[in-house]
Formats: sequence, C-alpha cells, structure tokens
Amino acid sequence: ARPLDFTCTLNPARIVFGSGTRAKVADELAALGVNRALVLSTPYQKADAQALAAELGDKAAGVFSDAAMHTPVEVTEKAMAVYTELGADGVVALGGGSTIGLGKAIAYRNDCPQLVIATTYAGSEVTPILGQTENGVKTTVRAASILPETVIYDPDLTRGLPVAMSVTSGLNAMSHAVEGVYAQDRNPVASQMAIEGVRALRDALPQIVADPRNSAARNDALYGAWLCGTVLGSVGMALHHKLCHTLGGSFDLPHAETHSVMLPHTAAFNAGAAAEAMKPLADLFGGDIGAGLWQFAKDLGAPMTLKDLGLAKADLDRAADLAVKNPYWNPRPVERDAIRALLGRAWEGAAPE
Ligand code: NAD
Repeated sequence: ARPLDFTCTLNPARIVFGSGTRAKVADELAALGVNRALVLSTPYQKADAQALAAELGDKAAGVFSDAAMHTPVEVTEKAMAVYTELGADGVVALGGGSTIGLGKAIAYRNDCPQLVIATTYAGSEVTPILGQTENGVKTTVRAASILPETVIYDPDLTRGLPVAMSVTSGLNAMSHAVEGVYAQDRNPVASQMAIEGVRALRDALPQIVADPRNSAARNDALYGAWLCGTVLGSVGMALHHKLCHTLGGSFDLPHAETHSVMLPHTAAFNAGAAAEAMKPLADLFGGDIGAGLWQFAKDLGAPMTLKDLGLAKADLDRAADLAVKNPYWNPRPVERDAIRALLGRAWEGAAPE
C-alpha cells in the first residue's frame, strides 16, 4: 500500500561518490570557500591525514590526529585551540564516526564548513546529530551547523578497512535502515533508501569477507552505507538505537560491534508490530527478518554475543532498567521484562525471538 500522508525533511548535503574522488578534496574545499583546512583523524589514521595535508599544500592549516570514540569534550577543546592557533577556516574529517564526530563538534561551536571523507559505514557524515561525552555522560544534540556540507565517498579508501570492522560497520549501517522503515515519522523517500541500502550491503558484505579488496563490493557497501546513513539523518530511531546507546554509554561497549550483536534481536522484537513496513527488508533475508539477519551476521563471522563484547551477566538487569527509564516511541511497547529477556538472548547468543 502506498502512504497516504507524510512529512519529509531531507538534509541539504553535497555528496561526491566514486573511486578516485579523494583527488577532489582541494576543489571541494574551494567550492566551500575554505582556504586553510584543519585535517582531522584518529591516531590510527594519522599517516593518511598527514599525506592528505601534504597534498593540499597551503590549503591545509595542519593536522589534528587525536579524535577519539564518543567525542570527549576535552578532545574537542584541544582541537578548537589548535584550530584557532593555526588560523584554520574549515575542517576536513578523514575517517569514521569518531573523527567525523570531532569535526561536527568543532562546527557546532564555530559554525565552520565541514568536508568529510568517510572511511567506515557508520553514517555519521550525513546526519545533523552529534553525540559527545563530558564527565562520562553522553549527550546528543541536533543542529543544522552539525550537518557536514560536503561528503566525499571514495571506495578506494575503504579497501583497507579490516574485514571484522567492515562487517560490524556494515551491520551498523543496516540498523539505521531497519529502524528507518518503521520510524514513527517514516516517509516514502527514506523507506526506499533504506531498502536499497540494505540490499546493497546484503550483497556486498559476503563478497568483502571473501575478498576485502574487491572494488565492486567496496563500492556497493559504501553506496549502501550512504543510503542507510541518510535514513538515520532523516527519520527518528527507536528501540535498537536506544538499547545500543545505553549499552555503549553506560557499559562502554564498542559501537559497531554492539549494533551488530543487537540488530537481529531488536528486528525480531519489532517484526510482528511493524510487519508491513518491514516486509521489503524481511524479503531480502528469506522472509523472517530476525532469523534472517541472525544467520547473515553469523555467516559473516560477526560477533554474536554481548558476553564477548565484555558485558557482565550481572549488568543485564541494570541495562534493562536503564533501557526503559526514559520512555520513547517504538512500534511495539517497550516493556521491562521483554527487554530483559531480549538482552539475555543477545548476551548468550541465543536465536532471536
Ligand atoms: P571509528 O570512527 O571509531 O573508527 C574505528 C577505528 O577504525 C579508528 O581507529 C579509525 O581510525 C579506523 N578506521 C576508520 N576507517 C578506516 C579505514 N578505512 N581503514 C582503516 N582503519 C580505519 O568507528 P565508527 O564505527 O565509524 O564510528 C563510531 C563512532 O561514531 C561512535 O562514537 C558513534 O557514536 C559515532 N556515530 C555517530 C553517528 C551520528 O549520526 N552522530 C552515527 C554513527 C556513528
């Protein structure tokens, strides 16, 4: 059935996609009016950031390579000081969600233009959302200044993304799409992007596991990630993202891996209540979205248990309590005992129900 009424807000980002597009950074910065960009990365991608800055020559003000998971405010303050000291007038974030988060945090404070070169599938580059941590507390803000102006997706830069990270990051991307199709504010454009994004990732991830340097599969995975990220930036998320936020924020579990373990369980939980909206996705996994995603993840060698991610069994009750503390919309009511049972299955690696 086609939708009868909806509202639809799309984010105004410029997307430059394709093999070799990394060479367009200087032109894209010029189009943004940026003359001295501060190049951002994590310590792990520092050499790549330095190489990019060298290529940019006097268009680069310098490199700040201390981006960290969950965007700690102390790191942002350090980066802001470097930005001012070097006389930068824009940022280039080269990396995944951690580096992109730092670029967003800077732009949130000084409204500078951001160019992102995305190298994982997490999707942060196309959302106006920033999660940051201060004194161990993670808060989320949404603002127009947070949305990066330009995103370069060059699949060549993802060929070295380790297989395990490619798998968990790809499942993280899919989780945006799965929640997108049943979002309370879902719209037909976002839903079509979600279906196409999941299809692209479903086809690409097994090929990446077989051969991480398969260019066509890397292209398709990044294309799927863009679509899924765009869904995340366009419609509201529900149970899955809230549970992962709790597990990451309060128990320090790793981001992509947690999404990866939880997705089959949260999808199964909502499958009955959102059957019609989820049907096109269920069809991509043999008809049963929870069982299908579970088997898919297993075949890819993804982590399958919260236990393996370091969550103590004794924490399951508190995790369930925290997950239901602040009520939010979900297609199926979020009841404490059902959530505790779901978390128990995810902890031990039982099949989703
Ligand atoms: P990440 O950015 O933390 O990257 C993990 C590690 O992989 C880093 O060391 C990084 O430098 C390295 N890496 C990235 N790309 C690589 C590549 N192609 N080759 C080799 N190494 C590479 O991981 P992530 O999962 O992309 O991001 C997670 C963070 O992003 C979390 O803090 C999460 O909350 C945030 N996030 C925010 C949003 C949003 O919309 N605000 C969306 C998704 C994720």
